[in-house]
Amino acid sequence: MNSKIWLSSPHMGNDEFNFVKEAFDTNWIAPLGPNVNGFEQDLQTFTGAKYTAALSSGTAAQHLALIMLGVQAGDEVICQSFTFSATANPIVYLGATPVFIDSEAETWNMCPDLLEQAIKDRIKKGKKPKAIVPVHLYGMPAQIKRIMAIANKYEIAVIEDAAEALGSTINGKATGTFGLMGVLSFNGNKIITTSGGGALISNDRKLIDQARFLATQARDNAPHFQHSQIGYNYRMSNVCAGIGRGQMKVLKDRISQRRQVYDTYLRDLGDIQGIEFLPEPAGYFSNRWLTTILVDPEKTKGIDRETIRIALDAENIESRPLWKPMHLQPVFEKYPSFTNGVSEKLFNTGLCLPSGSNLTADEVQTVIKNIKKHF
Ligand SMILES: *Cc1c(COP(=O)(O)O)cnc(C)c1O
Repeated sequence: MNSKIWLSSPHMGNDEFNFVKEAFDTNWIAPLGPNVNGFEQDLQTFTGAKYTAALSSGTAAQHLALIMLGVQAGDEVICQSFTFSATANPIVYLGATPVFIDSEAETWNMCPDLLEQAIKDRIKKGKKPKAIVPVHLYGMPAQIKRIMAIANKYEIAVIEDAAEALGSTINGKATGTFGLMGVLSFNGNKIITTSGGGALISNDRKLIDQARFLATQARDNAPHFQHSQIGYNYRMSNVCAGIGRGQMKVLKDRISQRRQVYDTYLRDLGDIQGIEFLPEPAGYFSNRWLTTILVDPEKTKGIDRETIRIALDAENIESRPLWKPMHLQPVFEKYPSFTNGVSEKLFNTGLCLPSGSNLTADEVQTVIKNIKKHF
């Protein structure tokens, strides 16, 4: 049996261990410290965001962003349906109601037309949404300029979920920097990892100061422990941030390696009838976090996504269906949704292929060979 070919596994560079060792040598193990400051600085330089708070996860960043927008029980928050559950969960932590929006077919992200329709509908029903949460899924930027124009028209804040899209841009501007706040993740499967971690980015200094305050138990400025607000334990540790500083040194390589994986799949599988890739619209740059294909059984003589997934699995190759939309999830289906069938179809026909930056050329060819043999 081949050794396992993973979907997206951690890929360390040469410097991570040195930053972690420095934390140990100086006994700076606890939260905060020079690695956290350094990592935040690196993220700002890379994304162009003015301010950053390094946090324990992307989910924590999303939770704090919603809290700072004043989202409370009974409020409504507009959320992309085609995503990982961590985009929507923090809305429910706060007792608010997610209103799910389906995707457009060009980037697979939040459909601006449905977004505007939903805003109008919710306002008519007496409730203006408190925030809009679009996602840049699989690294492909959403139609964020159109989404921002609609958000500005109705004066609703945007929190961009860029957890999968560090390094993705539109005309050179980083995803996560279009809205009021952006969420990043450094979970183990993302393009770079701190073993677990996340960040909130913004050009608004007050918001990031407030995020840091809330993330360290909302301690008032006093010698004793005094609290006027409920706090959270959401800061990134100095040890994890050391991994992040090392990973930032190789991020550009990781992006070109993932894009290379995509290009190879496209070159070798792109001509097969019934297999479709997701091209970049003009001006869009995807970090190609995961390469995804759509398999149309009507054009492949019945070969479908599951045929391929199960066959790959038998060869010890990990692949996975695309995210199951939130409006179809048992835990979320009771919430309002505005749908057009796009994300449901993507879920039914789509497959994520092994896409790690640490895949060898041979491993990519093994995947390709095991897909090609069906055709
Ligand atoms: C990974 C991910 C998150 C959550 O990030 P964590 O750091 O794992 O909490 C949120 N949204 C999307 C789209 C993700 O892929």
